[in-house]
Parts: sequence; structure tokens; C-alpha cells
Amino acid sequence: EAKAAGKDCHVVFQPQMQRAVQERLEVEMDLGRAVGAGEFFLDYQPAVDLRTEQITGVEALVRWNHPTRGVVMPEEFIAIAEESGLIVSIGRAILGEACRQAASWQRQGHRISMAVNVSGRQFDRHGDLLAVVLAALDDSGLDPGLLTLEITETILMRDADRSAAQLLDLKGLGLRLAIDDFGTGYSSLAYLQQFPVDVLKIDRSFIRDVATAGGTRALVHAFVELGRSFGLETWAEGIEDRHQLRCLQDEGCDSGQGYLFGRPLSAAAVESLINEQTGAAREPAPTA
Ligand code: C2E
Ligand code: MG
Ligand code: MG
Ligand code: MG
Repeated sequence: EAKAAGKDCHVVFQPQMQRAVQERLEVEMDLGRAVGAGEFFLDYQPAVDLRTEQITGVEALVRWNHPTRGVVMPEEFIAIAEESGLIVSIGRAILGEACRQAASWQRQGHRISMAVNVSGRQFDRHGDLLAVVLAALDDSGLDPGLLTLEITETILMRDADRSAAQLLDLKGLGLRLAIDDFGTGYSSLAYLQQFPVDVLKIDRSFIRDVATAGGTRALVHAFVELGRSFGLETWAEGIEDRHQLRCLQDEGCDSGQGYLFGRPLSAAAVESLINEQTGAAREPAPTA
């Protein structure tokens, strides 16, 4: 009942709104249950060096294996997990799992870097995040230099001074930092200089039309130049065809990921790709 609703404050509670609220509540309760039941798993999308097209790393991407809905993608539950605070425990499990996986590859002799997405809520709980990352590194034995934390430009710009200080503490753990979805969050260049980051991940929306006449190539060119002048690695998201790849190579973009190189895959599938690649690299060695 809208008790304060006077004549200029008119509350119309429509059945669709009620349904939407109900659905949200259901997802939220379901998420809480899923955390306890361990229904989340990670797929890993290969990232390549654009010069050699060899896999140099992966990005961990969370999925929810729902008992009745099947596999649910992050776009459908991350925002709700954020708002409810459940992302904190889900995020802790993700960091632990991603580091264990990367450490397992490290023990097999592969230097494959592992990129993990950090949500706004996790980033806000700074002390907690530091402790969680440190524990994930210690428990797994992963070389910290093989871990990259991805934080979106939008999250970093909410309070840029505070972000710069937090990033500095995270860097102190010896890991790498990436600005995710770069180009969409209106960073001021002054702040970019203050952020101790290693990688600019150019948002997929700029890659889509990079090879199209009248497209975004000039912007991508500017981002790559920006990265170069700040000494940052540039990394393109969402490369789907060879025209886009060619443009990015010509612009001197360092790394990239996208369906052209591989969809997000199970750890086992990534592992066979890495083994194939290592085998192929060894093959041409002369047999004396
Ligand atoms: P993101 O971090 O920007 O991840 C890249 C997204 O682009 C992934 O979607 C990936 O599957 C998709 N993608 C990669 N290559 C291509 C391509 O060539 N074409 C197209 N059309 N798409 C491509 P996904 O897995 O659905 O994840 C969506 C978003 O959900 C992520 O965007 C990230 O913001 C969030 N997310 C995923 N995993 C996690 C996680 O573990 N923790 C947190 N906090 N957020 C996550
Ligand atoms: Mg990401
Ligand atoms: Mg991204
Ligand atoms: Mg993106």
C-alpha cells in the first residue's frame, strides 16, 4: 500500500512490476542456494599474442550450472549477485579455482596467464579482496606474475583517487592489473597515468567495426597509441574475423581474444590446445 501517495505522487503498481520483483527475489534466493551447492564453474577463453597467434593466457568466465535451467550465463546473474552481496563469496570461489587451474598448468611447464574479473562490490571491500587474492595465490602456489585482475573502467572511475590507492596495494602482491571494457567509461587521461595498471582491454564494441569503412579504426588507433605512450599492453576483446585481426595487427595491438581464436572452453579443452601448441613448436626441431 502506498500510504504517502498524494495527488502529485501517484504510485501505480502494475502486475508486470510485481512479476519482475518476484522473479528477482527468486533468482536471489536461488543464487544463495547455488553458492552452498557449488553450482558455479569456470570456462576459460584463450587469449593470444597477435603477432604469433599463440595462446599466452586465458580469461576465466563464470557460468552457473542450474539444476533445472541448465547453464546460465553471467549476464543473467552477476548484477543480482552484486546487489545482494552474494558476489563476494562467489568471487572468492572463482579466484580460488582460477588460481588452482593456472597453478596446475604452471606445474606442467606452461606459462599461461590467468585473467580474473573483479566486480565492483569485491573492489569496494578492499581489505577483504587483498586477503582473498593473497590466500588464492598462497594456497595454489601460482606465480603472482601469472595472475591478472580485470577491473572495469566504470568501477575504477567511480572514485578515481581511492581506486588508484587500492590498485597500488593490489600491485604490491606482484600480480598484473587490467582495465576491462576500456573506452566505455570516460576515464580522464590524468587518471590513467595514476593507475598502476599493465593492460588496457579495448572493449568489444570498438572491435566490431574496426575493419569497416567509416568504422572505429581511428579510435582503436588512438587507444593503441595511448597504451604505447603509457607503457601498457593493449588487448582487444571480441575478435571474430580475420579482417579485424589484420587491422589490429597493423595498428600494433599486442594481444587479443575472441571467437576467431576460441570460445570460452573447459579447462580440459584449453589444456589440449596448449599441449598441441607446445607440440607444434617442438616439431620442427632438427633430429640431429
Ligand atoms: P567481459 O569480462 O568483458 O568478458 C568478455 C565477454 O565477451 C565474455 O562473455 C566472452 O564470452 C565474450 N566474448 C569473447 N569473445 C567474443 C567474441 O568474439 N564475440 C562476442 N560476441 N563475444 C565474445 P560472458 O562469458 O558472457 O561474460 C560476460 C561478462 O560477465 C564479462 O564481460 C564480465 O563482465 C562478467 N563476468 C564473467 N565472468 C565473471 C566473473 O567470474 N566475475 C565477475 N565479477 N564477472 C564476470
Ligand atoms: Mg573481463
Ligand atoms: Mg571485457
Ligand atoms: Mg566487454
